[in-house]
Amino acid sequence: MANGNPRRIVVVGGVAGGMSCAARARRLDEFAEIIVLERGEHVSFANCGLPYYVGGEITDPAKLLVQTPERLKAALNLDVRTGHNVVGLDPIAHEVVVETESGTERIAYDDLVLSPGASAARPPIEGLDSPRVRTLRTVDDALDLREAVDGGASRAVVLGAGFIGLEAAEAFAQQGIQTTLVEFAGQVLPPLDSENAWLVQQELARLGIDVQTGKAATAIEHGMDEDVVVLDDGTRVPADTIVLATGVRPDTQVFEEAGVICERGAIVVDEHGHTSLENVWAVGDATLSTDPVTGIRRPVALAGPANRAGRQVADAIIRPESARPIPQPLGTAIVRVGDLTAAMTGANRVALDASGIDYETIHLHPNQHAGYFPGAEQIHMSVHFCADDGLLLGAQAVGEDGVDRRIDVLATAIRSGMNVDDLIDLDLAYAPPYGQAKDAVNLAGMVGANVLDGTLKLWYPDQLEEALETALVLDTRSRAEYATGYVPNSLNIPHTELRERLDEVREAAAGKPVRILCQSGVRSAIAHRVLVQEGFDSSSLSGGMLSLRAFLGPQADSVLRTAIVEAD
Ligand SMILES: Cc1cc2nc3c(=O)[nH]c(=O)nc-3n(C[C@H](O)[C@H](O)[C@H](O)COP(=O)(O)OP(=O)(O)OC[C@H]3O[C@@H](n4cnc5c(N)ncnc54)[C@H](O)[C@@H]3O)c2cc1C
Repeated sequence: MANGNPRRIVVVGGVAGGMSCAARARRLDEFAEIIVLERGEHVSFANCGLPYYVGGEITDPAKLLVQTPERLKAALNLDVRTGHNVVGLDPIAHEVVVETESGTERIAYDDLVLSPGASAARPPIEGLDSPRVRTLRTVDDALDLREAVDGGASRAVVLGAGFIGLEAAEAFAQQGIQTTLVEFAGQVLPPLDSENAWLVQQELARLGIDVQTGKAATAIEHGMDEDVVVLDDGTRVPADTIVLATGVRPDTQVFEEAGVICERGAIVVDEHGHTSLENVWAVGDATLSTDPVTGIRRPVALAGPANRAGRQVADAIIRPESARPIPQPLGTAIVRVGDLTAAMTGANRVALDASGIDYETIHLHPNQHAGYFPGAEQIHMSVHFCADDGLLLGAQAVGEDGVDRRIDVLATAIRSGMNVDDLIDLDLAYAPPYGQAKDAVNLAGMVGANVLDGTLKLWYPDQLEEALETALVLDTRSRAEYATGYVPNSLNIPHTELRERLDEVREAAAGKPVRILCQSGVRSAIAHRVLVQEGFDSSSLSGGMLSLRAFLGPQADSVLRTAIVEAD
């Protein structure tokens, strides 16, 4: 731009955020010189599709390459340079230092956009340098893993049960490879609330995956035909293929050393993606975001926010007067595991507890579509909202069908600052194959509104022990349902008989509060309304036995009792 030359925009990183920025910049400014520097061999590749190539659902590796430098030149006149590793930044001279096969060069910029992404974290595990250990981040990684599968891999260990770890484990299991999934946290998919994670863990078990939670790999012993992964409880798992998926860290060392301000390795940016250095911008996995719900500062490694931020930074560079600020990502995410889908948006319980926000949680298990229409399946949902005004804070859902749509609606509601009771009023598409006249999201609004105005008082699975000590537990399911698993010392009165048997409840409660439960929380809510209007101190178990079982996880069978009864 100086001296009448066209503006030169240099982009570091040619995949999600970087390429989105470069393409938008060209659409806004036909005359800018736009150079994309990518250290790898490929640009614009489908990182998110890599696990599905390993799993054999995507069969043609060419499909992973969404664009090539040649096509980007032809369509957008972008100067895309692969094999260009940026190893230095000189903010005074406005230059980057680049290493290529043919040596080192300096490239000047008017504006520099950093989208270097994140690299796989490498925990201190002895023997991690085994050639059998691979990450799953690049096209080459996926090609290597596919080659291992085609070459007869028979035992795989996946370290880390986050999104990529789950997708890798699923990919192996689907091809008959004996797979062990190791996770240091006490549950798979740590961003999920534990009761939802348990549903995913059961699905992993159904796929034949051996899930080892609460354990860390301490060593990988190298062998001739296979390695042995040693866990901290002494378990030894043989493996011919090992995937390291224990998380990522922003790939920012070069830029931090050059003076770009970072926090725990993530680049600090303002609402337009500008860094601490003049004319230097950053987007994507390498940047720091502030959780809009809890205020926690952390990087968010998701493709949507990276792509959108890339576009918005191009706006900020080329037409700053009308550039939209980049909203802080809610971390809306989704993953498929076998027949299940798990999705989440906003804050989870752990984050809310840590932030000290006073919140309520509701659990629901509505069908994804009309119960009378074939194929009806439950969606297991939880929704968190502020205890005082009902402001939506987070939501999660797990189920076979319809999870994506509900979480997307809830993510939209959170983004637009809705309260839980506003969900009642959402006009959502309905016909029996797709939903219910009262959609799952509307129902969440109704239950939430009842909690907010005191019509419904809830108790929670983590209060079971206290309930057993201080209250009467009243189970309002049928006798046959009760027999399949009940809380010890609970009183079983089916909800249809409750009005006639109030004296029994009064006698058994003997002045103590009544903690009601049923299968999903619907019948117990009706029973609660009966009891509370009869003068009882009562509350209804959030999500019922379904949520209690999921919360208890592997302990459910030892906590609950079963009985043989005549069906009623
Ligand atoms: C296997 C896998 C599956 C995923 N699935 C999903 C999904 O389903 N949904 C979702 O939302 N997200 C998913 N993600 C995450 C998503 O891909 C990332 O959040 C997104 O790509 C981040 O974009 P980015 O531009 O910040 O970084 P990237 O897309 O990772 O691009 C960074 C690029 O910069 C290059 N680079 C780094 N440093 C330099 C340097 N110094 N010089 C030159 N080049 C450099 C790197 O080689 C890399 O190609 C997945 C990621 C992986 C790996």
